[in-house]
Amino acid sequence: MTTRVHPADDELVRAAAHVARTRCRGDNHTMAAAARAQDGRIITAVNAYHFTGGPCAELVLIGAAAAQGAYELDTIVAVGDRDRGVVPPCGRCRQVLLDYFPALKVIVGAGDRVRAVPIADLLPESYVWADHQLDAG
Ligand SMILES: [Zn+2]
Repeated sequence: MTTRVHPADDELVRAAAHVARTRCRGDNHTMAAAARAQDGRIITAVNAYHFTGGPCAELVLIGAAAAQGAYELDTIVAVGDRDRGVVPPCGRCRQVLLDYFPALKVIVGAGDRVRAVPIADLLPESYVWADHQLDAG
């Protein structure tokens, strides 16, 4: 598999890092995410940790974006609190992001290797939910 690499959206990484630094508190909010909507807006969110399965920052961001009328996202990044830098999406988020935004780019990597890659490249041989809704249409 050849991973297609794009330059990272530095403004987006800075936005997520800012939210991680200024809005994450205690054990409930430890991760921040920022996404570039297709209209250029930046949407941000933090996770809502709970032992029953509280959503990651990426998932909170999907709802926050929709609440602002942003239904199409171009690029997303998550940054950890306490200066942990860019954190790649967990497996659940990779599946959700792929299903919602098949053309999404995800910023991954650390230091001078921070880059944007297609969500599909983070989930090879992926299950595509829409392909299995046989009664639809
Ligand atoms: Zn996740």
